[in-house]
Amino acid sequence: MQGNMMHVPLTIPFILERARTIYRGREVVSLLAAGRDTQGQPIAHKHRTTYGAVADRALRLGAALGALGLDQGDRVATLAVNSFRHLEAYLGVPSAGYVLHTVNIRLHPEQVAWILNDAGDRVLLVENAFAAMIPALKAACPQLEHIFVLGPTPQPVPGAQDYDSWIMGHEPLAAYPKLDEDSAAAMCYTSGTTGNPKGVLYTHRSTVLHSLASAPKDALNVGETDTLLPVVPMFHVNAWGLPYTCAMYGAAQVYAGVFSDGRSLATLMQDEGVTITAGVPTIWMGLLGELDRAASEGTPYDLRRLESLIVGGSAAPEAMIRAFDERHDLTLRHAWGMTETHPLGTASTVPPGVDPRSDEGYVLRAKQGRPVPLVYLDLVSESGERLPHDGKTMGRLLARGPWVAASYFGGSGQASFLTLDGEAWFDTGDIATLDERGYMHIQDRAKDLIKSGGEWISSVDLENAIMAHPAVAQCAVIAMDDPKWDERPLAVVVPRPGHSVTHEQLVEFLAPKFAKWWLPDATVLTDHLPIGATGKFLKRELREEYRGYGAA
Ligand code: ADP
Repeated sequence: MQGNMMHVPLTIPFILERARTIYRGREVVSLLAAGRDTQGQPIAHKHRTTYGAVADRALRLGAALGALGLDQGDRVATLAVNSFRHLEAYLGVPSAGYVLHTVNIRLHPEQVAWILNDAGDRVLLVENAFAAMIPALKAACPQLEHIFVLGPTPQPVPGAQDYDSWIMGHEPLAAYPKLDEDSAAAMCYTSGTTGNPKGVLYTHRSTVLHSLASAPKDALNVGETDTLLPVVPMFHVNAWGLPYTCAMYGAAQVYAGVFSDGRSLATLMQDEGVTITAGVPTIWMGLLGELDRAASEGTPYDLRRLESLIVGGSAAPEAMIRAFDERHDLTLRHAWGMTETHPLGTASTVPPGVDPRSDEGYVLRAKQGRPVPLVYLDLVSESGERLPHDGKTMGRLLARGPWVAASYFGGSGQASFLTLDGEAWFDTGDIATLDERGYMHIQDRAKDLIKSGGEWISSVDLENAIMAHPAVAQCAVIAMDDPKWDERPLAVVVPRPGHSVTHEQLVEFLAPKFAKWWLPDATVLTDHLPIGATGKFLKRELREEYRGYGAA
């Protein structure tokens, strides 16, 4: 027998309408770049608006896109920083029936063109700072019909129109089109750290459910009294969905635009009373350095309102979690996810009875957390057998849930999607452990694991332990070829300024924590590690650079 409840489609206009009406007075603050100073650094200009005004402009954008003659489902790309204009596109493009495709601005122009062509984008919204790319993109992307520039430019850009005057020339969309909740709303490409970028198509339904599930206390704890600063870029898995989550629940938003250095972020958090922020570990490393500097000079920032710094994208070392707690009374909270999971898969919580600042608490907080409701995780062996959730056995991490991808755009990468006992699962490519209480601990990307004598060594565990050494600023551990064991760990270390460290010292430091065969065979010191477009160490490049190191 069927139940007798209404079927209300879960679509993005529901989020836009809440922002337009209930939360119309909540603020959206953006740091914009207004020209450059004599050293070529961008000059910050603070822009303030409200959800009401953003919603009005989002509806004008929707109407303006319609007037271009687009068909429902056509892709509208953005090459933009975090700002209120990007938020307008988040809300306005899908609500008018088109697909918002956020493109990573840090990619090489050739990769950008490849992605725009693969997605078949017809319209492109480009931040003024990247207007110089327009002629090359026009030449390389024949299907691109309309280009609009976000923000003022000193002179008109050939081949493009000004976004503000374009949208303001249209009345707001009077009525939403009828939208199927399973139709595509947004599109993101994986950042390609382990292969060619692949397109993931989020639906209206997955976006609404992901936003609902991201806010509760044991997820990211977002509500109307919050002010969020998503440092994670809006092109990176929709800034972890936070712009939608905030708009749904009425949290104010603060965007840092191109300013991601520790000083700009700390100042913005202090001045705007930010309560929650989110970013990758490399961003929080920069912030930690700035907070330490300010404290040592006797001028600490006042970040009393800041309740949590959400960290994801790669593992946050336990030493960093402790440093924020102990030196600045600030809480770093792990979350894990990927482009294919919208991204929220797990969030870190400490169960009742455990002090988050005890040794046990830190061990739990260094893990990636427990799955948020409606996300299921499991582990399988290389041959596809289910593995125990005992906190020790490492296996390939599988995910399923209403906001997990079921395939890639264009049908590539089918090997990642599998069926187990009649259920569809996504193979994340991560190697993890799960324990009885649901805590998930990432050990590695499958491609980064070090396979020594048929056994697995977690490069992430070693890196995190090495980064706790007082002389170490950053570290990546990679596999080097070994004639006897196939692969052995090599530590590539950036020492802290004014410090140095030897291989023997590091091994001595690690020895109490690891089995002997896990200890790196060699250490190389370098002055920087290659960092990719989403803020992660580029291990592929490092492996290339140190190929054959062991043999040399
Ligand atoms: P790409 O897969 O191209 O790197 P994503 O941004 O989708 O792009 O990255 C997802 C991957 O990032 C995950 O599969 C995982 O390996 C890693 N990751 C994300 N969050 C965490 C975290 N909190 N701890 C460790 N690794 C993480």
